[in-house]
Amino acid sequence: MTEPLLSMRDVSVTYHGSGGAVPAVRRVSLDLERGGSLGLAGESGCGKSTLANSILRLLPPDAVVEGQIVLDGKDVLSLRPGGLRAARWTAGAIVFQGALHALNPVQTVGRQIAEPMLIHGTVPDEEAAERRTVELLGRVGLPAARADSYPHQLSGGQRQRVLIAMALACEPMLLIADEPTTALDLMVQAQVLRLLEELKEEHDLTLLFITHDLSVLTYACRDLAVMYAGRIVEDGPSWEVFGGPAHPYTKGLAAAFPTIGDPSSRMAPSGLGGDPPMPGSLPVGCPFNPRCPYATEACLEAEPELRIAGTDRRAACILV
Ligand code: SF4
Repeated sequence: MTEPLLSMRDVSVTYHGSGGAVPAVRRVSLDLERGGSLGLAGESGCGKSTLANSILRLLPPDAVVEGQIVLDGKDVLSLRPGGLRAARWTAGAIVFQGALHALNPVQTVGRQIAEPMLIHGTVPDEEAAERRTVELLGRVGLPAARADSYPHQLSGGQRQRVLIAMALACEPMLLIADEPTTALDLMVQAQVLRLLEELKEEHDLTLLFITHDLSVLTYACRDLAVMYAGRIVEDGPSWEVFGGPAHPYTKGLAAAFPTIGDPSSRMAPSGLGGDPPMPGSLPVGCPFNPRCPYATEACLEAEPELRIAGTDRRAACILV
């Protein structure tokens, strides 16, 4: 078996703010093989973005990361600043949601795409950086003239394309896309998803895609991991997980989308009632028990570990 590009073992992330310790991610283990695609799903506050940001150590200083994260053979948590700088953009790059906030408002987008190439020395000089910027803009469907635009002069979809071009600038092996389509309308969302799919094939990228939208992940990723209360509660091949969820939380997520052609389901989708727990005050036993329609007394005894739920499938529920 070849070594995975990304391997995470027992990764926990705890924020130590003024309100005390908040465990945002708890003992997560996952592997992502080279050229593979993994979708991380779950509601807001379940730890997806915190987990993704821990891979390139992009978390705020009050976050403590434990466990092991190996990216392209390097132990990320023990990298020194120079090694970390080299790993960012080249081993892994990230596309954030909300491109308007992720881009510098007082610099042209062309300059911002060229900057990582010049800093990392992937191009010999400014002229080559400009050429490559135009090439990247073309690849994400933007005309060369857009290089001279400032972020506020572009539409939401164009800004998201700029972020993707920027992430590809140093030809990373791993592309982390954190809710890249959430702020976009449906048409633009479909275009950006198609673009990511094409780029993945062209550049042989490994993709880690994060969103609360299971249907988007099923389209974009071969494998799926569902997070709840900071832990993975189900994982497996996307179509199988989406088509036949084993964990009650995944069932709720899958059912929480309106049915096309049924306007009543738009206003009241079946699926999940209530909210996810606050990371600092998790319920006793299975953290999903207050919202779970199948909960019994036995669910209060201990938090279930992941169990085999089929070929290449696992789920953390006592009913599995
Ligand atoms: Fe529901 Fe119990 Fe399974 Fe948790 S362990 S998901 S509460 S049935």
